[in-house]
Amino acid sequence: MNIPFSKVDCSGNELKYIKEVLESGWLTTAGKCAEFERQFGRKVGGKYACAVNSATAALHLACEAVGIGPGDKVFVPAMTFTASAEVIRYMGADPIFLDIEYGTCLITPAILDAAVKRYPGAKALMLVHFGGQAAEMGERRAEVRGRASDIDGILDICRKHGLKLIEDAAHAFPTRYHGRMIGSFGDATCFSFYANKTITTGEGGMLVTDNEDIYKRAKVMRLHGIDRDIWDRFTARKASWEYDVVAPGFKYNLPDVAAAIGLAQLERADEFHRARQKCAEFYYENLSDIGCLDMPVCHGAWEDHAWYLFSIVLNEKSPITRNRFIELLNEAGIGTSVHYKPLYHMSYYRDRYKLRAEDYPNAERHWRGVVSLPLYPGLKAEELAYICETIRRILG
Ligand SMILES: *Cc1c(COP(=O)(O)O)cnc(C)c1O
Repeated sequence: MNIPFSKVDCSGNELKYIKEVLESGWLTTAGKCAEFERQFGRKVGGKYACAVNSATAALHLACEAVGIGPGDKVFVPAMTFTASAEVIRYMGADPIFLDIEYGTCLITPAILDAAVKRYPGAKALMLVHFGGQAAEMGERRAEVRGRASDIDGILDICRKHGLKLIEDAAHAFPTRYHGRMIGSFGDATCFSFYANKTITTGEGGMLVTDNEDIYKRAKVMRLHGIDRDIWDRFTARKASWEYDVVAPGFKYNLPDVAAAIGLAQLERADEFHRARQKCAEFYYENLSDIGCLDMPVCHGAWEDHAWYLFSIVLNEKSPITRNRFIELLNEAGIGTSVHYKPLYHMSYYRDRYKLRAEDYPNAERHWRGVVSLPLYPGLKAEELAYICETIRRILG
Protein backbone atom coordinates (compact mmCIF):
# COMPACT_ATOMS: atom_id res chain seq x y z
CA MET A 1 0.00 0.00 0.00
CA ASN A 2 1.02 3.58 -0.52
CA ILE A 3 -0.88 5.95 1.73
CA PRO A 4 0.19 9.59 1.61
CA PHE A 5 -0.06 11.75 4.74
CA SER A 6 -2.50 14.07 3.05
CA LYS A 7 -4.50 14.12 -0.18
CA VAL A 8 -6.73 16.83 -1.65
CA ASP A 9 -10.18 16.11 -3.03
CA CYS A 10 -11.03 18.54 -5.83
CA SER A 11 -13.60 16.35 -7.58
CA GLY A 12 -16.59 18.64 -6.99
CA ASN A 13 -17.41 21.86 -8.83
CA GLU A 14 -13.82 23.17 -8.72
CA LEU A 15 -13.19 22.89 -12.47
CA LYS A 16 -16.59 24.29 -13.37
CA TYR A 17 -16.13 27.41 -11.24
CA ILE A 18 -12.52 27.89 -12.40
CA LYS A 19 -13.75 27.72 -15.99
CA GLU A 20 -16.28 30.45 -15.24
CA VAL A 21 -13.50 32.67 -13.98
CA LEU A 22 -11.25 32.01 -16.98
CA GLU A 23 -14.11 32.68 -19.38
CA SER A 24 -15.00 35.92 -17.60
CA GLY A 25 -11.58 37.26 -18.57
CA TRP A 26 -11.13 38.76 -15.08
CA LEU A 27 -8.50 36.76 -13.20
CA THR A 28 -7.80 38.83 -10.12
CA THR A 29 -10.07 39.55 -7.14
CA ALA A 30 -13.70 40.11 -8.11
CA GLY A 31 -17.09 38.45 -7.91
CA LYS A 32 -16.01 34.91 -7.01
CA CYS A 33 -13.97 36.26 -4.13
CA ALA A 34 -16.87 38.36 -2.85
CA GLU A 35 -19.15 35.33 -3.08
CA PHE A 36 -16.63 33.16 -1.23
CA GLU A 37 -16.38 35.79 1.54
CA ARG A 38 -20.15 35.97 1.84
CA GLN A 39 -20.65 32.22 2.02
CA PHE A 40 -17.71 31.52 4.31
CA GLY A 41 -18.66 34.34 6.69
CA ARG A 42 -22.21 33.00 6.88
CA LYS A 43 -20.95 29.46 7.50
CA VAL A 44 -18.78 30.43 10.49
CA GLY A 45 -21.25 32.97 11.85
CA GLY A 46 -19.01 36.02 11.50
CA LYS A 47 -20.37 39.41 10.39
CA TYR A 48 -17.49 40.33 8.10
CA ALA A 49 -15.13 38.12 6.09
CA CYS A 50 -12.04 39.32 4.23
CA ALA A 51 -10.38 36.81 1.88
CA VAL A 52 -6.61 36.89 1.52
CA ASN A 53 -3.90 34.80 -0.12
CA SER A 54 -2.84 32.94 3.07
CA ALA A 55 -3.71 32.52 6.72
CA THR A 56 -0.38 34.13 7.49
CA ALA A 57 -1.57 37.25 5.64
CA ALA A 58 -4.84 37.15 7.60
CA LEU A 59 -2.93 36.89 10.89
CA HIS A 60 -0.69 39.78 9.88
CA LEU A 61 -3.68 41.95 8.96
CA ALA A 62 -5.38 41.01 12.25
CA CYS A 63 -2.31 42.02 14.26
CA GLU A 64 -2.15 45.31 12.37
CA ALA A 65 -5.87 46.03 12.69
CA VAL A 66 -6.08 45.41 16.46
CA GLY A 67 -3.14 47.77 16.94
CA ILE A 68 -0.26 45.52 17.97
CA GLY A 69 2.90 47.62 17.80
CA PRO A 70 6.63 47.71 18.61
CA GLY A 71 7.48 46.44 22.08
CA ASP A 72 4.05 44.93 22.74
CA LYS A 73 3.92 41.49 24.31
CA VAL A 74 1.68 38.90 22.71
CA PHE A 75 0.98 35.44 24.16
CA VAL A 76 1.33 32.57 21.72
CA PRO A 77 1.56 28.80 22.28
CA ALA A 78 5.03 27.28 21.92
CA MET A 79 3.41 24.33 20.15
CA THR A 80 2.31 25.80 16.81
CA PHE A 81 3.47 26.60 13.32
CA THR A 82 5.90 29.51 13.06
CA ALA A 83 3.31 31.67 11.25
CA SER A 84 1.41 32.20 14.55
CA ALA A 85 4.49 33.86 16.05
CA GLU A 86 6.19 35.42 13.02
CA VAL A 87 3.31 37.85 12.44
CA ILE A 88 3.85 39.20 15.95
CA ARG A 89 7.43 39.95 14.95
CA TYR A 90 6.19 41.63 11.72
CA MET A 91 4.68 44.28 14.01
CA GLY A 92 7.89 44.68 16.02
CA ALA A 93 6.11 43.09 19.00
CA ASP A 94 7.48 40.23 21.09
CA PRO A 95 5.90 36.79 21.42
CA ILE A 96 5.60 35.36 24.94
CA PHE A 97 5.61 31.61 24.42
CA LEU A 98 3.24 29.56 26.59
CA ASP A 99 3.34 25.86 27.38
CA ILE A 100 0.25 23.89 26.38
CA GLU A 101 -2.01 21.29 27.97
CA TYR A 102 -0.66 17.79 27.33
CA GLY A 103 -3.08 15.71 25.28
CA THR A 104 -4.84 18.60 23.51
CA CYS A 105 -1.94 21.01 22.83
CA LEU A 106 -4.33 23.81 23.73
CA ILE A 107 -3.87 26.93 25.83
CA THR A 108 -6.21 26.48 28.80
CA PRO A 109 -7.78 29.24 30.93
CA ALA A 110 -5.44 28.21 33.77
CA ILE A 111 -2.37 28.61 31.54
CA LEU A 112 -3.56 32.02 30.33
CA ASP A 113 -4.45 33.12 33.84
CA ALA A 114 -0.95 32.35 35.10
CA ALA A 115 0.53 34.16 32.08
CA VAL A 116 -1.40 37.42 32.62
CA LYS A 117 -0.29 37.42 36.24
CA ARG A 118 3.31 37.06 35.17
CA TYR A 119 3.07 39.57 32.28
CA PRO A 120 0.40 42.06 33.37
CA GLY A 121 0.93 44.51 30.51
CA ALA A 122 0.53 42.05 27.65
CA LYS A 123 -1.38 43.33 24.66
CA ALA A 124 -2.94 40.29 23.01
CA LEU A 125 -3.37 36.54 22.83
CA MET A 126 -2.71 34.60 19.63
CA LEU A 127 -4.87 31.55 20.28
CA VAL A 128 -4.44 28.34 18.27
CA HIS A 129 -7.33 25.87 18.11
CA PHE A 130 -4.86 23.03 17.83
CA GLY A 131 -5.64 20.16 15.48
CA GLY A 132 -9.17 21.45 14.96
CA GLN A 133 -10.36 21.42 18.58
CA ALA A 134 -11.63 24.65 20.13
CA ALA A 135 -9.89 26.03 23.18
CA GLU A 136 -12.03 26.57 26.32
CA MET A 137 -13.56 29.90 25.32
CA GLY A 138 -15.98 30.22 28.24
CA GLU A 139 -18.60 32.74 27.28
CA ARG A 140 -20.85 30.35 25.43
CA ARG A 141 -20.87 27.81 28.22
CA ALA A 142 -22.14 30.57 30.50
CA GLU A 143 -24.87 31.42 28.01
CA VAL A 144 -25.90 27.79 27.67
CA ARG A 145 -26.30 27.44 31.38
CA GLY A 146 -28.18 30.72 31.50
CA ARG A 147 -25.98 32.12 34.24
CA ALA A 148 -22.48 33.40 34.72
CA SER A 149 -19.97 30.60 34.60
CA ASP A 150 -18.03 30.04 37.80
CA ILE A 151 -14.87 29.25 35.85
CA ASP A 152 -13.51 31.91 33.53
CA GLY A 153 -12.88 30.85 29.97
CA ILE A 154 -10.30 32.33 27.62
CA LEU A 155 -12.73 35.02 26.45
CA ASP A 156 -13.55 36.05 30.00
CA ILE A 157 -9.87 36.34 30.91
CA CYS A 158 -9.12 38.37 27.76
CA ARG A 159 -11.98 40.78 28.53
CA LYS A 160 -11.03 41.13 32.17
CA HIS A 161 -7.43 42.01 31.33
CA GLY A 162 -8.01 44.01 28.15
CA LEU A 163 -6.24 41.46 25.97
CA LYS A 164 -6.99 41.52 22.26
CA LEU A 165 -7.88 38.05 21.03
CA ILE A 166 -6.66 36.88 17.64
CA GLU A 167 -7.55 33.30 16.80
CA ASP A 168 -5.30 31.26 14.56
CA ALA A 169 -8.03 28.97 13.25
CA ALA A 170 -5.86 27.48 10.48
CA HIS A 171 -6.86 24.02 11.78
CA ALA A 172 -10.31 24.95 12.90
CA PHE A 173 -12.83 24.78 10.09
CA PRO A 174 -15.47 23.67 10.77
CA THR A 175 -14.91 23.76 14.55
CA ARG A 176 -17.52 24.44 17.19
CA TYR A 177 -17.32 25.39 20.83
CA HIS A 178 -20.43 24.08 22.58
CA GLY A 179 -22.18 24.08 19.23
CA ARG A 180 -21.20 27.62 18.15
CA MET A 181 -18.82 27.93 15.19
CA ILE A 182 -15.32 29.25 15.73
CA GLY A 183 -15.38 32.54 13.79
CA SER A 184 -17.29 34.92 16.05
CA PHE A 185 -15.51 34.72 19.39
CA GLY A 186 -12.33 36.81 19.32
CA ASP A 187 -11.51 40.20 17.77
CA ALA A 188 -10.44 38.45 14.58
CA THR A 189 -10.36 34.80 13.52
CA CYS A 190 -8.01 33.65 10.78
CA PHE A 191 -8.56 30.56 8.65
CA SER A 192 -6.21 28.79 6.23
CA PHE A 193 -6.98 27.28 2.85
CA TYR A 194 -3.47 25.96 2.29
CA ALA A 195 -3.38 22.76 0.22
CA ASN A 196 -3.49 20.31 3.14
CA LYS A 197 -6.02 22.13 5.33
CA THR A 198 -9.62 20.93 5.82
CA ILE A 199 -10.78 22.93 2.80
CA THR A 200 -8.40 24.49 0.30
CA THR A 201 -7.95 27.13 -2.36
CA GLY A 202 -4.38 25.96 -3.07
CA GLU A 203 -3.09 28.95 -1.15
CA GLY A 204 -5.51 31.20 0.69
CA GLY A 205 -6.91 32.47 3.96
CA MET A 206 -9.77 34.38 5.52
CA LEU A 207 -10.02 36.97 8.26
CA VAL A 208 -13.42 36.90 9.96
CA THR A 209 -14.57 39.48 12.48
CA ASP A 210 -17.69 41.02 14.02
CA ASN A 211 -15.86 44.33 14.41
CA GLU A 212 -16.51 46.79 11.56
CA ASP A 213 -13.35 48.84 12.23
CA ILE A 214 -11.13 45.76 12.12
CA TYR A 215 -12.82 44.62 8.93
CA LYS A 216 -12.44 48.00 7.21
CA ARG A 217 -8.80 48.31 8.18
CA ALA A 218 -8.01 44.75 7.07
CA LYS A 219 -9.74 45.36 3.75
CA VAL A 220 -7.76 48.54 3.08
CA MET A 221 -4.44 46.99 4.15
CA ARG A 222 -5.13 43.86 2.10
CA LEU A 223 -4.65 45.91 -1.05
CA HIS A 224 -1.86 48.49 -0.80
CA GLY A 225 -3.64 50.69 1.76
CA ILE A 226 -5.90 51.97 -0.99
CA ASP A 227 -9.09 53.48 0.35
CA ARG A 228 -11.54 54.26 -2.38
CA ASP A 229 -14.43 54.69 0.08
CA ILE A 230 -12.69 57.52 1.93
CA TRP A 231 -11.76 59.24 -1.31
CA ASP A 232 -15.33 59.07 -2.54
CA ARG A 233 -16.69 60.35 0.73
CA PHE A 234 -14.45 63.40 1.00
CA THR A 235 -14.47 64.47 -2.61
CA ALA A 236 -17.94 63.47 -3.71
CA ARG A 237 -16.29 62.39 -6.94
CA LYS A 238 -16.67 58.90 -8.27
CA ALA A 239 -13.99 58.75 -10.94
CA SER A 240 -13.10 55.07 -11.11
CA TRP A 241 -9.40 55.75 -11.71
CA GLU A 242 -9.01 57.94 -8.68
CA TYR A 243 -8.09 56.65 -5.23
CA ASP A 244 -6.26 57.56 -2.07
CA VAL A 245 -3.52 55.66 -0.23
CA VAL A 246 -3.92 55.92 3.53
CA ALA A 247 -1.10 53.59 4.65
CA PRO A 248 1.71 51.47 3.20
CA GLY A 249 -0.52 48.43 2.81
CA PHE A 250 0.17 44.93 1.57
CA LYS A 251 -0.62 42.82 -1.47
CA TYR A 252 -2.68 40.07 0.13
CA ASN A 253 -5.80 39.78 -2.05
CA LEU A 254 -7.16 36.37 -3.08
CA PRO A 255 -7.48 35.85 -6.85
CA ASP A 256 -10.84 34.69 -8.19
CA VAL A 257 -9.40 31.42 -9.54
CA ALA A 258 -8.50 30.49 -5.96
CA ALA A 259 -11.86 31.70 -4.65
CA ALA A 260 -13.56 29.52 -7.28
CA ILE A 261 -11.84 26.46 -5.79
CA GLY A 262 -12.86 27.64 -2.32
CA LEU A 263 -16.54 27.92 -3.30
CA ALA A 264 -16.54 24.36 -4.60
CA GLN A 265 -14.76 23.11 -1.47
CA LEU A 266 -17.18 24.95 0.79
CA GLU A 267 -20.11 23.10 -0.80
CA ARG A 268 -18.58 19.86 0.46
CA ALA A 269 -17.28 21.05 3.83
CA ASP A 270 -19.83 19.13 5.89
CA GLU A 271 -19.30 15.96 3.86
CA PHE A 272 -15.50 16.33 4.30
CA HIS A 273 -16.01 16.94 8.01
CA ARG A 274 -18.10 13.79 8.53
CA ALA A 275 -15.52 11.71 6.66
CA ARG A 276 -12.67 13.11 8.78
CA GLN A 277 -14.57 12.37 11.96
CA LYS A 278 -15.09 8.76 10.79
CA CYS A 279 -11.31 8.36 10.34
CA ALA A 280 -10.73 9.71 13.85
CA GLU A 281 -13.33 7.34 15.31
CA PHE A 282 -11.61 4.43 13.58
CA TYR A 283 -8.26 5.39 15.09
CA TYR A 284 -9.74 5.69 18.60
CA GLU A 285 -11.48 2.32 18.27
CA ASN A 286 -8.42 0.53 16.97
CA LEU A 287 -5.46 2.15 18.74
CA SER A 288 -6.69 3.22 22.18
CA ASP A 289 -5.66 0.00 23.93
CA ILE A 290 -1.98 0.22 22.90
CA GLY A 291 -0.19 1.04 26.13
CA CYS A 292 2.80 2.88 24.69
CA LEU A 293 0.56 5.29 22.74
CA ASP A 294 -1.06 8.42 24.17
CA MET A 295 -4.15 9.23 22.11
CA PRO A 296 -5.24 12.81 21.40
CA VAL A 297 -7.68 14.09 24.02
CA CYS A 298 -11.02 15.49 22.85
CA HIS A 299 -12.78 17.49 25.58
CA GLY A 300 -15.97 18.44 23.76
CA ALA A 301 -18.42 16.67 21.47
CA TRP A 302 -16.69 14.77 18.67
CA GLU A 303 -18.69 16.54 16.00
CA ASP A 304 -17.46 19.92 17.31
CA HIS A 305 -13.86 18.96 16.40
CA ALA A 306 -12.66 19.67 12.84
CA TRP A 307 -10.29 16.66 12.97
CA TYR A 308 -7.59 18.42 10.97
CA LEU A 309 -4.92 16.41 12.80
CA PHE A 310 -4.83 13.05 14.48
CA SER A 311 -1.58 13.12 16.43
CA ILE A 312 -0.59 10.18 18.59
CA VAL A 313 2.29 10.34 21.05
CA LEU A 314 4.73 7.47 21.71
CA ASN A 315 5.13 7.60 25.47
CA GLU A 316 7.99 6.41 27.70
CA LYS A 317 6.81 2.78 27.36
CA SER A 318 7.51 2.74 23.63
CA PRO A 319 10.05 0.10 22.55
CA ILE A 320 11.37 2.37 19.77
CA THR A 321 12.02 6.06 19.22
CA ARG A 322 9.59 8.33 17.44
CA ASN A 323 11.98 8.80 14.53
CA ARG A 324 12.43 5.03 14.08
CA PHE A 325 8.62 4.60 14.23
CA ILE A 326 8.23 7.14 11.42
CA GLU A 327 10.88 5.31 9.36
CA LEU A 328 9.15 1.96 9.80
CA LEU A 329 5.76 3.41 8.87
CA ASN A 330 7.36 4.99 5.84
CA GLU A 331 8.86 1.64 4.81
CA ALA A 332 5.36 0.18 5.08
CA GLY A 333 4.12 2.88 2.67
CA ILE A 334 2.42 5.07 5.26
CA GLY A 335 3.08 8.80 5.18
CA THR A 336 3.14 10.71 8.45
CA SER A 337 4.07 14.14 9.71
CA VAL A 338 5.10 15.84 12.95
CA HIS A 339 3.09 18.68 14.52
CA TYR A 340 5.11 20.48 15.66
CA LYS A 341 8.73 20.97 16.48
CA PRO A 342 8.10 23.59 19.20
CA LEU A 343 9.10 27.17 18.48
CA TYR A 344 11.60 27.27 21.39
CA HIS A 345 13.64 24.73 19.41
CA MET A 346 13.77 27.01 16.34
CA SER A 347 17.05 28.89 16.35
CA TYR A 348 15.51 32.31 15.65
CA TYR A 349 13.11 32.29 18.60
CA ARG A 350 15.40 30.25 20.86
CA ASP A 351 18.37 32.58 20.45
CA ARG A 352 16.50 35.87 20.34
CA TYR A 353 14.41 35.14 23.44
CA LYS A 354 16.85 32.82 25.26
CA LEU A 355 14.23 30.09 25.46
CA ARG A 356 14.83 26.81 27.31
CA ALA A 357 13.01 23.52 26.67
CA GLU A 358 12.68 22.78 30.39
CA ASP A 359 10.26 25.72 30.72
CA TYR A 360 7.80 23.90 28.42
CA PRO A 361 7.43 20.38 29.89
CA ASN A 362 4.11 19.54 28.19
CA ALA A 363 5.11 20.79 24.75
CA GLU A 364 8.40 18.94 25.12
CA ARG A 365 6.72 15.67 26.11
CA HIS A 366 4.37 15.98 23.12
CA TRP A 367 7.13 16.86 20.66
CA ARG A 368 9.40 13.97 21.70
CA GLY A 369 6.79 11.35 20.86
CA VAL A 370 4.36 12.92 18.41
CA VAL A 371 3.40 11.43 15.04
CA SER A 372 0.46 12.69 12.98
CA LEU A 373 -1.38 9.96 11.09
CA PRO A 374 -3.03 10.25 7.65
CA LEU A 375 -6.50 11.81 7.97
CA TYR A 376 -8.56 12.96 5.00
CA PRO A 377 -11.94 12.33 3.39
CA GLY A 378 -10.61 9.98 0.69
CA LEU A 379 -8.91 7.63 3.18
CA LYS A 380 -10.46 4.17 2.62
CA ALA A 381 -11.55 1.73 5.32
CA GLU A 382 -8.95 -0.82 4.21
CA GLU A 383 -6.24 1.83 4.33
CA LEU A 384 -7.25 2.81 7.87
CA ALA A 385 -7.24 -0.85 8.89
CA TYR A 386 -3.80 -1.33 7.32
CA ILE A 387 -2.41 1.71 9.16
CA CYS A 388 -3.69 0.42 12.51
CA GLU A 389 -2.44 -3.14 11.88
CA THR A 390 0.98 -1.81 10.89
CA ILE A 391 1.22 0.34 14.01
CA ARG A 392 0.30 -2.68 16.13
CA ARG A 393 2.89 -4.84 14.37
CA ILE A 394 5.65 -2.23 14.83
CA LEU A 395 4.91 -1.59 18.49
CA GLY A 396 3.82 -5.12 19.42
C1 LIG B 1 -1.12 26.24 8.09
C2 LIG B 1 -0.99 27.10 9.30
C3 LIG B 1 -0.80 28.49 9.22
C4 LIG B 1 -0.47 29.19 7.94
O1 LIG B 1 -1.40 29.01 6.96
P1 LIG B 1 -1.06 29.59 5.49
O2 LIG B 1 -2.39 29.65 4.84
O3 LIG B 1 -0.13 28.59 4.86
O4 LIG B 1 -0.42 30.91 5.67
C5 LIG B 1 -0.82 29.23 10.36
N1 LIG B 1 -0.99 28.66 11.57
C6 LIG B 1 -1.15 27.33 11.71
C7 LIG B 1 -1.36 26.76 13.08
C8 LIG B 1 -1.14 26.51 10.58
O5 LIG B 1 -1.27 25.19 10.72
